[in-house]
Amino acid sequence: MPEQKSEYDVLVIGGGIAGEEAALNLANIGYKVILVEKDISIGGKMIHLSKVFPTLDCAACITTPKVSETARHPNISILTNSEVKDIEKHSESNFSAVLIEKPRYVTEDCTGCQICEEKCPVVVNDQYQWDLVGRKAVYIPFSIANPRIAVIDIENCILCGLCEKVCPANAIDFTQEEKQTEIKIKSIIIATGYDLFDPELMPRYGFGKYKNVVTSMQMERQLVPTRPYNTVLRPKDGKMPDNIAYVLCTGSRDETIGNPICSQVCCMYSVKQAQLLMGALPMADVTIYYIHIRAFGKGFCEFYQQSKGMGVEFIKGKVGTIKENENGNLVVRYEDIEEGKVKEAEHDLVVLSVGILANTDFTTMFKNIKIGQDNFNYVKQTDELTNPAKTTIEGVFVAGTASGPMDIPDSILSAGAASAETASYLRRTNNEK
Ligand SMILES: Cc1cc2nc3c(=O)[nH]c(=O)nc-3n(C[C@H](O)[C@H](O)[C@H](O)COP(=O)(O)OP(=O)(O)OC[C@H]3O[C@@H](n4cnc5c(N)ncnc54)[C@H](O)[C@@H]3O)c2cc1C
Ligand code: SF4
Ligand code: SF4
Repeated sequence: MPEQKSEYDVLVIGGGIAGEEAALNLANIGYKVILVEKDISIGGKMIHLSKVFPTLDCAACITTPKVSETARHPNISILTNSEVKDIEKHSESNFSAVLIEKPRYVTEDCTGCQICEEKCPVVVNDQYQWDLVGRKAVYIPFSIANPRIAVIDIENCILCGLCEKVCPANAIDFTQEEKQTEIKIKSIIIATGYDLFDPELMPRYGFGKYKNVVTSMQMERQLVPTRPYNTVLRPKDGKMPDNIAYVLCTGSRDETIGNPICSQVCCMYSVKQAQLLMGALPMADVTIYYIHIRAFGKGFCEFYQQSKGMGVEFIKGKVGTIKENENGNLVVRYEDIEEGKVKEAEHDLVVLSVGILANTDFTTMFKNIKIGQDNFNYVKQTDELTNPAKTTIEGVFVAGTASGPMDIPDSILSAGAASAETASYLRRTNNEK
C-alpha cells in the first residue's frame, strides 16, 4: 500500500462500489486519492451479494477485480477501520479533515493464514453472514477481504492470548491504540452508501422472534457460493424449505415507519433471488407478495416476466401479520388487493425484502460548514436533475446510494458523474490547463 501522506487531491469517504469507482476514475487521471472506509475491508454491500439482476452475473466476479484494482493503485491510499471527522473548509479547494484509524490489534505482518481463528475460543454472531452463523473474536471477515489482515473484535475478546501464542507471524499486538491524523485535501466525495431497514422495528412480521423469518440480505448469503450452509435451509430446524414467501416493501413506501420512498432495488433483487431459489431448490414454490412491481430498468420487465414463466407466483397483496405455527411454518395474513379480501397462506420460510435507508453519518463529519440533507435524510443534491453529483458545499460531491436508493449500474454512473465534477473542480481551482 502506498505510504500515507498528509496532502491529497481528493478524499473519498466510503469504499463500496461507488467509492471505488470514483477513486479509480480520479487516480487514473493522476490525482492523489485517499479512500477512507469505516469497515475492516473495502467492498461495501456488493461484496455480500450472490448474483446481480437482470443478467445473473456473479457479484463477486465483478466486484473482486474492482476491489483489488483500487487497493493496488499507486495513486490511491486506503485507510480501513477508519472514520472522518472535523472537516473544515478554509478556502476554495482547501479543506482539512481528521482521520480516526481504529486499532485492529493485528499488524500488517499478518499473512491471513487464519490459524488464530481456529484457536480462538470465542464465538459470536458473524455480521458478514448477517448473523446466520458464528465467527471468532479474531477473524478475517470474508475470503476476498481487502486488506486481508485479521482483526480482533476487542468487545468480545476474553484476552486469553491464544491467538498471540499461535500466530506464526507475531502479528497480534494488543498495545495498538486509536490513531488520529490531520490531512489536507482539495475536494471530497461522499460515498458512504446506505443502511438497511431493521425489520425488528415492524414486530408484526416477527423478525427476531421467529427464526424462519429472514431478511433478503440473509437470503443473499444463502445463495452465494461461499454460503454458510451447503444449500438453502430454514434457520430454525435446518430443514430444506419447499414453500418460500417474499414480502416486498418491508420498510419502504411506508409513512408509518418514516420511509415513504421506494427503495428501487427490492422488487428486482427479490425476483432475482426467486429465480436463484428455483435453481437451488427445483421442487420449491416461491410466492412474492407485492403492492406494485417496479421493473423500470433495461431488461427488468423481461426478467420479471421470465420469473413468472419459471413458476414464481405473484400475489398483489399487502401483508398485515406473520405468525408462527407449532411446526415452525409461518401463517401470512394479507389483503388480496385484486379480490378485496383478507386471506391467509402458510409458508415454511418468509423472506422480508427490506428497504434501503439513508446512512446519515455524513451529517456529523463537518465542522465549520454544514452539508445539506434532503427530505429523506440523504445527502442533498444541489439539483437532482441537472447537478446530481454536487452537494450544497462547493468542492464536496456525492456518489452512489449516499444520495438516494439506486442499483449497482446507477451507483457506478453516479460515481462517474461525481469524479467528472471533481476533476473539473480541481482543474478550475488549480488553474490546470
Ligand atoms: C438484498 C440486496 C440485494 C441487492 N441486489 C442487487 C443486485 O442484484 N443488483 C444491483 O444492481 N443492486 C443490488 N442491490 C443494491 C446494491 O447493494 C447497491 O446498489 C450498491 O451496493 C450501492 O453501492 P454504494 O457504494 O453506493 O453503497 P454501499 O455498498 O453501501 O457502500 C458504502 C461503503 O461506505 C462505507 N461507509 C459507510 N459509512 C461510512 C463512514 N462514515 N465512513 C467511511 N466509510 C463509510 C460502508 O462501510 C461501505 O463500504 C441489492 C441490495 C440489497 C439490500
Ligand atoms: S494474525 Fe497471525 S495467525 Fe491470525 S491470520 Fe494473521 S498471521 Fe495468521
Ligand atoms: S485473545 Fe481474544 S481474540 Fe485472541 S484467542 Fe483469546 S479470545 Fe480470541
